[in-house]
Amino acid sequence: MSVSVAAPKLASYVQGRRNVASGGFVGVPSAIDGHVVALVSSDGLDSGAMLRYGRRVGGANLRKLTFQRRAMLLRELGGYLQTRKAELYEVSFDTGATRRDHFFDVDGGIGTLFSFASKGRRELPDERFAVDGALEKLSKKATFAGRHVMLPRHGVAVQINAYNFPVWGMLEKFAPAFLAGMPVVVKPATATSYVTAAAFEMMIDSGLLPEGAIQLLIGRTGDLLDHLEGQDVVSFTGSLETSLLLRNHRAISEKAVRFIAERDSLNAAILGPDAAPGTPEFDLFIKEVVGEITSKAGQKCTAIRRALVPRAFYDAAAAALRERLAGVVVGDPRLDTVTMGALVSIEQRQAVRANAAQLATEGRIIFGSLDEVALVGADAAKGAFFSPLLLACDRPRTATKVHSLEAFGPVSTLMPYDGLDDAIELTRRGEGSLVASMYTHEAHIAAELVEGIGPFHGRIVLIDRDCAAESTGHGSPLPPLIHGGPGRAGGSEEMGGMRGVFHYMQRVALEGSPNRLTSLTHVWTRGASELETKQHPFRRTFDELQLGETIRTEARTITVEDIERFAEFTGDTFYAHMDEDAAKANPFFPGRVAHGYLVLSFAAGLFVDPAPGPVLANYGLENLRFTRPVVPGDSIAVRLTVKSKAPRTPDYGEVRWDVEISNQNGEAVAAYDLLTMNAVTNPTAAKRP
Ligand code: NAP
Repeated sequence: MSVSVAAPKLASYVQGRRNVASGGFVGVPSAIDGHVVALVSSDGLDSGAMLRYGRRVGGANLRKLTFQRRAMLLRELGGYLQTRKAELYEVSFDTGATRRDHFFDVDGGIGTLFSFASKGRRELPDERFAVDGALEKLSKKATFAGRHVMLPRHGVAVQINAYNFPVWGMLEKFAPAFLAGMPVVVKPATATSYVTAAAFEMMIDSGLLPEGAIQLLIGRTGDLLDHLEGQDVVSFTGSLETSLLLRNHRAISEKAVRFIAERDSLNAAILGPDAAPGTPEFDLFIKEVVGEITSKAGQKCTAIRRALVPRAFYDAAAAALRERLAGVVVGDPRLDTVTMGALVSIEQRQAVRANAAQLATEGRIIFGSLDEVALVGADAAKGAFFSPLLLACDRPRTATKVHSLEAFGPVSTLMPYDGLDDAIELTRRGEGSLVASMYTHEAHIAAELVEGIGPFHGRIVLIDRDCAAESTGHGSPLPPLIHGGPGRAGGSEEMGGMRGVFHYMQRVALEGSPNRLTSLTHVWTRGASELETKQHPFRRTFDELQLGETIRTEARTITVEDIERFAEFTGDTFYAHMDEDAAKANPFFPGRVAHGYLVLSFAAGLFVDPAPGPVLANYGLENLRFTRPVVPGDSIAVRLTVKSKAPRTPDYGEVRWDVEISNQNGEAVAAYDLLTMNAVTNPTAAKRP
């Protein structure tokens, strides 16, 4: 390959500065015409210093921020990249990707920033740690209890990415690590590193990221892994071979470095026996299989490699797929008429061709060619173009390669199955995949397939006429629930949603007194001290309220007349409240009992302070349990305690109250968390002249 002098040298970003290698550059060719797009090398780069700086500067800076602040920064970063995404589209064409492919990579990547930002805003506190799970009782008298917290690890997240999604691949891993409070070293795949570098530079240009939060390593990793320590995390995406090499690296095993790999996957799509030709599900299946062959020229880890159809529909499916594939236009991805671009490189084309040839030994090619492809606006001799290829494997039971060999390109194999058991058995031969999709409108077929193949997959997509238009990657702008899967796919199911954030944190069990747990977790726990203030807590602003602030109310006796009036007023005349004999026959009740909602309503009547003040709204109840029946003649009283506080806007915040309603014997009859929105400054006081 000729090294063009005009090609730019890609810079790494090391210790807060751009860093161009000292030599040893190799050219990265364009997938379209082979010209050298960029020069890459990591020669002379001190990767040990990179890790030390990340831990010392980046980690310390990130851990100063709360989850809410980090989530906000992610949102702002997404907004910034959004304004510059057209520049990334332009750079991306040379990877062979079409405009539609850019949408998955660039827009999809920015989408993950927004998605983690809003998840973080909704699910994580304005704290630098997160409480995970409920209080655990560890002693009889409850003076010693336990609680788990999640703390950011004090290492660096080293993220080694595959070539196929240079932007999304970086951002989908960066976002959870950043939200968790862990600095990142991004190592993009060389073949498309110029696109990652462009997106990375924009992230730095945004000025939003704290110093040391992110570094970029262009070129080979060199001795980076030798410098790993126990608090570091390595997240790898790529081939099985490389993942094994890394997993077995001495530093990773010796220091027990947290390692996760996302790798090859022989994803299956299953057409249900009810989805005969002519049904919407049949058409959706055909459309999806062809879409997955051509999108990113099949270089998607979630692409459908095995298309399973009932034997009775085998010929019809083959004909429909061929017909649709005939409409695919391969060529220069910059042209709007082109629907499939090139593979990333000539080497990748050689690998795809070799693997497809292997697959063809177990079947026949029913569409496309291993050697030729008709092109629009491109030169077959210069670019890495490859024909969409559909194989048919008549005897998938005796075949082995179609279930184990991934041709990471526009290649899929159609195969017939005989009965659902057969479909399940064939799907499972993929030995663990990222995703399976099924096309059926029958509940019992979906149930049988899910039970049969579920444990072998990270995600199962159930497509039918009711949801197809809004499914992930089609109508929905939101990312799928998880990206990862068991077995061959790498065992990375941990990476979904908030678990992906927690992957970069350490779960620590704290054991101690209720007071100590309250002071550490900022969540009041039962058994901890209660604070009494002169003022009713409803008269105190969000800022004034303190954890543990409590009122205990007077008691109120509940009468039969109360129950009857409540029944009449609400229309709830359920027999347990109205009919003594029928209630007695019920195993839970001694006779007529008060409505649970009556108990709640009377409790509010006991603890509410009615005048306008800082409490703006009742926002809901959580964890409500009725633990003991309330019978006529019982007296109920309420304890209301400030459990936790979470700012929402500069003007108000959410207060969570621990509420316990008890009877005249001190026995709890109901318990719940009450949520209110409270003003930061007292609105009634502010209005006074
Ligand atoms: P790859 O060759 O395994 O490379 C993946 C990454 O590892 C690249 O950044 C590569 O850098 C780096 N690498 C290679 N050798 C290394 C070594 N000895 N030490 C440290 N790093 C090393 O995979 P790829 O060709 O880029 O990607 C295609 C594969 O990825 C396919 O098999 C596909 O199934 C899989 N994939 C899986 C998922 C998933 O989520 N499961 C997603 C996307 C892709 P260089 O480029 O500089 O060599």
